[in-house]
Amino acid sequence: MHPKTLRCIPIGGLEEVGKNSMVVEYEQDILAIDMGFQFPEDELFGVDYVIPDIQYLVERKHRLKGILITHGHLDHIGAIPYVLADLGFPTIYGSALSLGLVQKQLEEHKLLKSAKFKVVDNKQTYNFGQLQVEFFRVNHSIPDAMGVYVRSPVGNLVHTGDFKFDFTPSDGIEADIQRLSEIGKRGVDLLFSDSTNALKPGHTISERFVAGNLEENIAKAKGRVIIACFSSMIGRIQQLLEFAKQHGRKVFLSGGSLLSNFEIARKLGYLKFDKQLIVDIRQVNQHADKDVLILTTGGQGEPMAALSRMATGAHAQVKIHDGDTVVVSSSPIPGNEKQVAFLVDALSRFGAYVVSNQMMDVHASGHGQQEDLKLMMSLVRPEHLVPIHGNFYMRRAHGQLAPEAGVSKDNVHLMDNGNVLEVRDHKVSSKKEDIKVRYVVVDGTGKGDLGSQILKEREAMAQNGLISLVLKLRKGQLAGNPVITTRGFVGLKEQQKAVKEIDKKLRESLQKINKRNKSPSVEDYEHGIRSDVAGLALQRFNKRPVILPVILFV
Ligand SMILES: [Zn+2]
Ligand SMILES: [Zn+2]
Repeated sequence: MHPKTLRCIPIGGLEEVGKNSMVVEYEQDILAIDMGFQFPEDELFGVDYVIPDIQYLVERKHRLKGILITHGHLDHIGAIPYVLADLGFPTIYGSALSLGLVQKQLEEHKLLKSAKFKVVDNKQTYNFGQLQVEFFRVNHSIPDAMGVYVRSPVGNLVHTGDFKFDFTPSDGIEADIQRLSEIGKRGVDLLFSDSTNALKPGHTISERFVAGNLEENIAKAKGRVIIACFSSMIGRIQQLLEFAKQHGRKVFLSGGSLLSNFEIARKLGYLKFDKQLIVDIRQVNQHADKDVLILTTGGQGEPMAALSRMATGAHAQVKIHDGDTVVVSSSPIPGNEKQVAFLVDALSRFGAYVVSNQMMDVHASGHGQQEDLKLMMSLVRPEHLVPIHGNFYMRRAHGQLAPEAGVSKDNVHLMDNGNVLEVRDHKVSSKKEDIKVRYVVVDGTGKGDLGSQILKEREAMAQNGLISLVLKLRKGQLAGNPVITTRGFVGLKEQQKAVKEIDKKLRESLQKINKRNKSPSVEDYEHGIRSDVAGLALQRFNKRPVILPVILFV
């Protein structure tokens, strides 16, 4: 008979920040902790998300007892709609807010009816066959984040989820420090712990400190205040609602994900405020500037987000002007720095006073820095440490802290996705053979490995962009201005200039076609315009975009 073994297999989240998921298996019982997605690397054009490879779970789905969710961020819940059916709709366990956010996603994928949920708290023990699970509270940038303590007959583990220690958090609820130290006393063989900020010394600053700075900006602003933060930062949003009330401002919301998360959080009681405080953004211009606080998203400079639309003058209601204060309450995710710099620059050009994290702390990370990580180890006192949630270099930095917190450096395991760690009679060993994890992408609603041909076509489009031209013609002449849209063709800065040149070329082309043909057909116009605009794109911009003329005879 084989010795009884607890197996831990991270199937995502160890070679990236994203698609977090870990399999915990003991005899006949299997649990999955988290099921997140990752936004793809830039080279994978048009691919929506990368998700964990769940093949191992699919083959054993009759033994899968549930999916435990640590918190409601997409890198922990985002893959659920894509895998739930394949896994046979196992019950999903998590805090009320985490499950609320999961339910919203499943609703969009029309899967809500088949799904099963159980709201858990940090007071009970949940039994899954021979596995016993307890949850404990941690601080993070979303309320109700939890870590997991899993016990089996041969070994116990703690999975922190994403965490930091904040003694004055925005929601006033501290991490379960006492519980963690009790768990440590009961015995922990393995600690799986968040490595995102392992390279940063010290403690992560408190939300309370950030709140002070945010309030200061609201208090001293004479004009409108516009604050951009992540839509899942419900705790910070609650504080901002209170500041708005104290300083006599109405709150206007702009941004799709913000509106939807706001509504979920309000319904579940995570946001509390007087009804009159919130006013429809369409009425923002009917209020005096000094009475306005706009909450929005897009602090990363995402081109389609509300703040970017404000920065390019394309927002329907909010035109930035002198006297506006814009607070970017986030710090750029690595890779977004340029975009954010452009955003700040564009807002400033319109006359806004822009406050970002470079000037004062108007954002605190949700992830613990070195002192937080060491504190976690000192409380839990594990025999072994497995740094998770991060690329190799982050996890290695985390591992290097272990000896300072009482964990032997020989007991630090830098795993890759698909590696297997086994515990037998409280002895930990890594298994030589791994389970195979493939790179799984989801594209719209489909799932699978994308053909390389499709990727190539998308790559061409992504490199050269797209120009769409809609023109109404009456007797061969333009009826109204043509509508010219470019995507990925030139940068935002050059866009206006490019559109102007295309417009000019279009008009010339039209006259040329009219001269050449007696009564030109739709095809004549399409063909002529396409080739003239393509020529312009190549000569002036050195690009070969896809050109889509749409001709309407009116
Ligand atoms: Zn998170
Ligand atoms: Zn995360």
